[in-house]
Amino acid sequence: MKARIVALPGDGIGPEVTNAAEQVLDKVSNLFNHDIQIDERLMGGVSIDKNGIALTEETLADCLDADAVLLGAVGGPKWDDPSAKVRPEQGLLTLRKEMGLFANLRPVSTHQKLQDSSPLKNELLKGVDILVVRELTGGIYFGEPSCRSVNQNGNLYAVDSMVYLDYEVKRIVELACSLAEDRQGKVTSVDKANVLESSRLWRQIATEVAHDHPKISFDHLLVDAAAMHLITKPSNFDVLVTSNLFGDILTDEASVLTGSMGNLPSASVGTNGPGLYEPIHGSAPDISGKGIANPIGMILSAALLLRYSLKLEQEAKCIETAVNLALHDGCRTIDLQQHENSLSTKQMTKAIIDRMRNNIT
Ligand code: NAD
Repeated sequence: MKARIVALPGDGIGPEVTNAAEQVLDKVSNLFNHDIQIDERLMGGVSIDKNGIALTEETLADCLDADAVLLGAVGGPKWDDPSAKVRPEQGLLTLRKEMGLFANLRPVSTHQKLQDSSPLKNELLKGVDILVVRELTGGIYFGEPSCRSVNQNGNLYAVDSMVYLDYEVKRIVELACSLAEDRQGKVTSVDKANVLESSRLWRQIATEVAHDHPKISFDHLLVDAAAMHLITKPSNFDVLVTSNLFGDILTDEASVLTGSMGNLPSASVGTNGPGLYEPIHGSAPDISGKGIANPIGMILSAALLLRYSLKLEQEAKCIETAVNLALHDGCRTIDLQQHENSLSTKQMTKAIIDRMRNNIT
């Protein structure tokens, strides 16, 4: 198969982990005889430095024209001035909106050999296999008005608006239900319906969608309770569907189950068009340039790209199996094991690539 991928390495550790994913995709091309072309473009702080904006029209057009987009991470202290008009995250938010990526899929599963890397008790981590489906183009990250001003008493105030339209809730919950059909058939919808009007609409629409999926076991949970259940009984969850803000926070929390934030991949998909694949972590300025970033979240994001955008299931499995084998064999970056024998990003990437096999030839 022939495919063109746009890679946006971004800032901080973004380029370090993107390079790892590119090597893995090259190996897939060689093993399975595909022609996967990868074109790198600037996005985020690096694009602000060169072009004055986080995402240029040309780069956006290139992304829309590609079969899929791979993204490292954006942001960092250099561009962190809160009063700045141009910010790295603007590129990411524009990209998600323009590509129509309304759903962010974040699989969270635990590896038996990594249980000691998590601060949680081992017995809580057994059998954890959660798919978080986060709404990505609505809610408080996009709602209007969003502004700062001064009120009549001279107090500075700021407003963000959590807005949800019925069809936005319907399509994300529909997707969660259809994904659950291929899993354990259980969906938990997370909201804050006891306080927020937007959450009451969310719950109403989610309930209607659930009625159309009688085979799915469907329940609702308030976000505060969900935050607690994620670390007290995580193996009870199958598919968890929630809004943009709640999903952002809950998946960072869920990453603790896996031992490190560096392990978690994500896929952002829309109705059609290319998907966007990125690890859930940020640009990690504290370790950037040291060559020690964990590349697994990024490499597993490349596997999701093969699965969802290119429909190459065997190839996706080949990467996931190689990651599992490397972890099974004790390969660890420093975030997973504070040890003098910890592997660098390059060594971990090589350990994974060395374990990739084409089992269908
Ligand atoms: P972060 O995810 O960058 O880092 C949090 C902690 O996890 C840090 O200690 C970091 O060293 C560690 N970590 C993250 N990824 C790792 C990896 N692959 N290997 C080893 N350790 C890893 O979050 P932050 O510190 O809150 O944010 C830093 C910058 O990243 C900010 O500018 C933020 O806006 C940006 N950010 C970008 C994205 C994105 O591009 N999608 C997401 C979140 C944060």
